[in-house]
Amino acid sequence: MLFPWFKKFWKKINYLRNKLPNVILFYGNYGIGKVNFVQYFAKSLLCENFFSKKKICNKKEFCISCFWFNKNIHPDYFSILPEVINKNEKSIYLNKLLLNKLNINQIKLLIKFTYFTNSLCNLKVILLSDIESLNIFSANSLLKILEEPPKKVIFLLIANNLKKILPTILSRCYKIILRKPSYEESLFWLKKKSLKNIEELFFNSGGFPILALKYFYKNYYFFLKKFFSFLFYPKNVDINNLSKYLLKIDIKSLLLILQLWLYDLFFLKTTNNIYYFFHFKKKLLFLVQKTTILKINFLLKKINNEILLYSEFLSSYLFIESLLIEYQLIFFNF
Ligand SMILES: [Zn+2]
Repeated sequence: MLFPWFKKFWKKINYLRNKLPNVILFYGNYGIGKVNFVQYFAKSLLCENFFSKKKICNKKEFCISCFWFNKNIHPDYFSILPEVINKNEKSIYLNKLLLNKLNINQIKLLIKFTYFTNSLCNLKVILLSDIESLNIFSANSLLKILEEPPKKVIFLLIANNLKKILPTILSRCYKIILRKPSYEESLFWLKKKSLKNIEELFFNSGGFPILALKYFYKNYYFFLKKFFSFLFYPKNVDINNLSKYLLKIDIKSLLLILQLWLYDLFFLKTTNNIYYFFHFKKKLLFLVQKTTILKINFLLKKINNEILLYSEFLSSYLFIESLLIEYQLIFFNF
């Protein structure tokens, strides 16, 4: 499955196939469908008929590779994916073990796959997502493999944020940026799905279609509604109750929303532009008069740091409570 906003770009990267780099890093915003794009790319590298047909054949009678790939049992394909929307987009499955950090057992499996298994299709493809969340030990182990990758092994790495990746890893990668689809294109695509409240969830996502789907499948609608009414009017709110209520949303999502929201306030203050929450322009225009660029910047830096250091073991309630209070504090004269 290739999302419509990547179709043009898909053709553009065909040049890569002539001289395939050993390590390709795909990066771009969270919530635009990077993992699906890279999985599709991996499948095309393994499809036996791709070169002749110029597309993935998907025919199980003619291509054992597509058959294996579709069944998720391809012996020449190894992937570590923390969070993916499945083929039918009907649910999001989370692999808790892999959610945050590659652990040493996974690295051992990766090494075994890279060096000690035979390739059946003349090429082995390894896909690793969320590279920025590797801890230093896993990152160093990965670096060792990337420094001398065996022939006929292709690494496809995915990241949201290049800043947290070891420069030594970055320097080994051929980098490809995947861009955010336009607001209109995303909304058009989402609306066709006829999912309840999807338009509003898209507004809440800051314009990221896959993020909106994630909110839908996680039943975040009412929780996000509450969170946004707090963002709109942060004063006179029972923080204690709200923090408990917001425990239903994963902290990473809360942090991401707050980050984009603060970016919009920041841009509005400095360049008069909005980049994410177009639908809430009036609310942002009202809020921006109640704060200063220094205060926005201060909290934004903090949030950016929290996102980089993010750990799923964070004490959620206290963390959410302090997050809400800090947001309240950047406004005055309400
Ligand atoms: Zn095929």
